[in-house]
Amino acid sequence: MTPVRPRYARIEQITDGLLRDAGVTAAPVPIDEIVHARGITIRMMDLKEVSGLVVRDGSVTVIGVNKTHPPTRRRFTIAHELAHALLHEGKEVRYDTDFRVDFRSGMSSLGVDVEEMEANFFAASILMPRRLLEADPLMSDLDVEDAATTKALAARYKVSPHAMSIRLGNLAVRPGSFAGAQR
Ligand SMILES: [Zn+2]
Repeated sequence: MTPVRPRYARIEQITDGLLRDAGVTAAPVPIDEIVHARGITIRMMDLKEVSGLVVRDGSVTVIGVNKTHPPTRRRFTIAHELAHALLHEGKEVRYDTDFRVDFRSGMSSLGVDVEEMEANFFAASILMPRRLLEADPLMSDLDVEDAATTKALAARYKVSPHAMSIRLGNLAVRPGSFAGAQR
């Protein structure tokens, strides 16, 4: 069943559990290992305009990733498709064309698919875990305008600077987090 509203808190619990099970204590998060640990296969594919897909056939689940995309984007796609595989039942085949990385900004706009928002938030939460970011020494240098720090964090977590800047923005606006960053 499609949720009416993105289940952000629940998703963060799930990603925390997956990270814990995988024993992740430092960036970059081994997303391939986490996917494989769930019994899911990853295939690099020639997908043209499609970023990624998830295919389910009985107990077999395969995530396909566009092999022509850069590694940071492929990691985000794998995490995004893992979200669909774990959270969104029903469809046997799901294709993702050019999903937007800005997972929370479209909250109130019309036509935004809740499942897409959930998958993007899941991807951000698992690739850029709150727990790791909060403990990251680079965070003490973080200024919202500081492109160099965002870029350094992006390199460390193996995500695009764009995805990192959105994640940092979303974490900073939440009460009780990154007090030092809210200057
Ligand atoms: Zn999707």
